Amino acid sequence: MEKSLVIIKPDAVNRDLIGRILSRFEEKGLKIAAMKMETLQPYKLKDHYAHLKEKPFYEELIKYMSSIPSILIVVEGKQAIEVVRKMIGPTQGREAGPGTIRGDFSVSNQSNLIHASDSTETAQKEIERFFRPEEIHEYKKMNFDWIYSKGEKELK
Ligand code: UDP
Ligand code: MG
Repeated sequence: MEKSLVIIKPDAVNRDLIGRILSRFEEKGLKIAAMKMETLQPYKLKDHYAHLKEKPFYEELIKYMSSIPSILIVVEGKQAIEVVRKMIGPTQGREAGPGTIRGDFSVSNQSNLIHASDSTETAQKEIERFFRPEEIHEYKKMNFDWIYSKGEKELK
């Protein structure tokens, strides 16, 4: 099974959307493997957003992301990285389609509520950046037999 790092960002925390966003992943059938609240420190965010260092919005992004706590989550499921990216929608909230998290709750290209890993490589790095191994839980859920078919057993 794949794991993806999700961050419910400070704007979502401020707007009381933690529960509604978390519910989407539970309702979809994804498994919560880890979860915690943390005020993200600029040094960690600079690492996380290193690829955006040259962008004009970089400083503002770091400030917004470190302003109040975020909720950090590891979600798990078959092809979870792609599934979660589809669920959150594109970066620009005004362009994100209805039914996606950003499409339903955001009209901004920065205050877009949520982060999710975009590839297997970044997912692994991001999970290691924000979680210690002992914070990630392996456990059996009774509903898994009803969420995937036997034929999907081999899928990662
Ligand atoms: N961002 C921004 N202005 C932009 C584009 C992105 O402030 O013009 C912020 C936004 O919060 C976004 C984050 O930078 O979620 C990371 O950008 P990326 O391109 O990786 O988008 P994402 O993967 O979050 O969709
Ligand atoms: Mg990104």
